[in-house]
Amino acid sequence: MACRRQSTQSEGEHMPTPAWEVEPTGERRRLVHVNATARGGGVAELLHGLVPCQQAAGLNAGWAVIGGDEDFYAVTKLLHHLLHGTADPDRLRAESLRTYRERLAAQASWFTERLTRDDVVVLHDPQTLGLAPLLSATGARVVWHCHVGADVPPDRGPGAVWRAFAAELSAVDAVITTLPEFAPPSVPLARRFVAAPAIDPSAPKNRHLEPREVAALLDRAGLTADRTAPDVRLVQQTTLPADARVVLQVSRWDPLKDMPGVVRCLAGLAPDVHLVLAGTDPTEIPDDPEGLAVLADVQQTLAGLAPADRARVHLVNVSMRDPLGNALLVNALQRRADVVLQKSLEEGFGLTVTEAMVKGRAVVASSVGGLRQQVIHERNGLLVEPTDLAGVRAALTRLLDDPALRRRLGEQARNDTLERYTMTRLVTDYGAIAGSAEGALA
Ligand code: UDP
Repeated sequence: MACRRQSTQSEGEHMPTPAWEVEPTGERRRLVHVNATARGGGVAELLHGLVPCQQAAGLNAGWAVIGGDEDFYAVTKLLHHLLHGTADPDRLRAESLRTYRERLAAQASWFTERLTRDDVVVLHDPQTLGLAPLLSATGARVVWHCHVGADVPPDRGPGAVWRAFAAELSAVDAVITTLPEFAPPSVPLARRFVAAPAIDPSAPKNRHLEPREVAALLDRAGLTADRTAPDVRLVQQTTLPADARVVLQVSRWDPLKDMPGVVRCLAGLAPDVHLVLAGTDPTEIPDDPEGLAVLADVQQTLAGLAPADRARVHLVNVSMRDPLGNALLVNALQRRADVVLQKSLEEGFGLTVTEAMVKGRAVVASSVGGLRQQVIHERNGLLVEPTDLAGVRAALTRLLDDPALRRRLGEQARNDTLERYTMTRLVTDYGAIAGSAEGALA
């Protein structure tokens, strides 16, 4: 679990150690995924679906989660922002990179004791890329699957990462990105692959829920009934009225998801429209150290609203301690929503939108990165410019006021998602990459 990995500052004494989230069952020809957190965020969500699917397809798949400490996560969060073009490249200092590499080097033996040259390791996101040279030395094939990126000029941030990680990138056998333009240019074309993320439509997060189940889950969480749930922290003046029209955004409390911007969209929407912002409890995602500050920013923005508008906003903080409860609550929220919004300033992909689309929801999404890949304007949702609040409001109002349009876009969204973004497709993509990457994953 992510929450067991607390800050481990004193070197040598409590060095972070990796742990199996899913141990491969066989000894040889393992396909080992490695990431930074077992719960919280899209990569963890993806691996919870992908690893069992790969096992069912006959692969000896497993999943290990690295550890870290505050200093390490501060660097990895900076790398994240640099890849999205939203941080100053000068902030990436030699000292930060030393900290990053030291924390990973301390964990490398855990892997080298377990890996053989028959194995394939898939390192997910920048948090784990630093392991590449150390693991490649075992003879195992090393793939870097990077889920983040933005279509920005290299000098806005990505270039600094590619320069700093030249050694790591030359140690990997293949790189997988969500969009071709997210790939590091130094990696030869023959080693670059593209695979969009995917969801499992039958998982608790996405499975069909009867309206009475949706109502019971929202009551249980305290959103619609006056009660307190142990794993949900709510900030709301009154419960959500049964006849309210609901706009929902589900996200980590990350600056790039622009939750404060979502709150600012409310003024100007019809008085029966309520906003539900749901996010993972920020204290439970160790590699996302900015969550508490973003939540505070949201609350400050809320405090600046007129009282009548403030009463129409519901903040839902969901704990990951009960993963099933979290999945079902997110599912119920997405089904209760009239419109699902994803107003990210940048987005590598955006599983929250895929999850809404597979449920036939009408979505309004920013025209950035992976959201632009999933949402085809006027076909299966509406795209907006995230900084244009009037434009976001207009798109929301248009959908809220037109049930037939919501239904048409929602049905197309469901069909498109089932065709393009299911786990079965991702398992096949990995297989195809194996075929063309000189047997890298075979
Ligand atoms: N999520 C969740 N509970 C929450 C907030 C988010 O389970 O309270 C999940 C959400 O359903 C999605 C994932 O976290 O599966 C977020 O993935 P996405 O790709 O949208 O964004 P990321 O967090 O990876 O940037």
